Amino acid sequence: KQHMARGLPKQKPITGVKQVIVVASGKGGVGKSTTAGTYTISELQKSKSVGLLDADVYGPSIPKLMNLKGNPDLSDNNLMIPLTNYGIPCMSMGFLVEDVAPIVWRGLMVMSAIEKLLRQVDWGSLDYLVVDMPPGTGDVQLSISQNIPVAGAVIVSTPQDIALLDARRGAEMFKKVNVPVLGLVQNMSVFQCPNCNHETHIFGSDGARQLADTLGVKFLGDIPLHLNIREMSDRGTPVVVSSPDSPEVSNMSTTICYH
Ligand code: ADP
Repeated sequence: KQHMARGLPKQKPITGVKQVIVVASGKGGVGKSTTAGTYTISELQKSKSVGLLDADVYGPSIPKLMNLKGNPDLSDNNLMIPLTNYGIPCMSMGFLVEDVAPIVWRGLMVMSAIEKLLRQVDWGSLDYLVVDMPPGTGDVQLSISQNIPVAGAVIVSTPQDIALLDARRGAEMFKKVNVPVLGLVQNMSVFQCPNCNHETHIFGSDGARQLADTLGVKFLGDIPLHLNIREMSDRGTPVVVSSPDSPEVSNMSTTICYH
């Protein structure tokens, strides 16, 4: 009712999905997909049924992160059946286009691709659907937030000013469309040299923590810049799967929680 009153489109839930959580960032490359993947898997470890939707239609990274490839089968009622690995059903534009095909689409085509990913997938029954959003605060982000009921947004940022500025824009966008910001995750804040253990704050040390304070939202945790995280992700075995108790993921998996 509130949405109609403000002239926004009516929201329609995704069939079978109880809650939608979006993982967003202002800037690309700050670790949004890595966080979305980790969050999803750690929720599964808490016995929740979760799915992962890669809404980054231009640069889908979930297929690689989750080691999934191929075209989805269609169900009897013509919906796409997600591909599953590590117990997580996933859907991504990457399953629908060739690996190296450039995704050069006009706005309308992007919107219809998003619509397809949101509405034409048979998720079965899920406690949570985690949506890995495209970076930024454009049409796609806005349309997802307005067309489906989103329970909350997790925002990922590095502590670098330029990333924080965009993260702040993201937070303000969610506020405008009445999506609660569950909190901020700070990624790549510290690098520990594997040889001498010296710690370097390559992108700054606690910018995201300060931003969380400024915005009055929760600070969800700090993920160090770690070679294992990068290597494992590139291999398609997110570090949370291969070594859930390692120090580099303990922060991620215990602090990003939504209940
Ligand atoms: P985004 O989704 O924001 O574009 P990704 O999650 O795809 O970012 O991360 C970008 C790259 O950085 C990936 O290669 C990923 O493995 C790597 N990466 C992300 N977070 C970390 C981290 N904390 N330590 C090491 N590498 C990381």
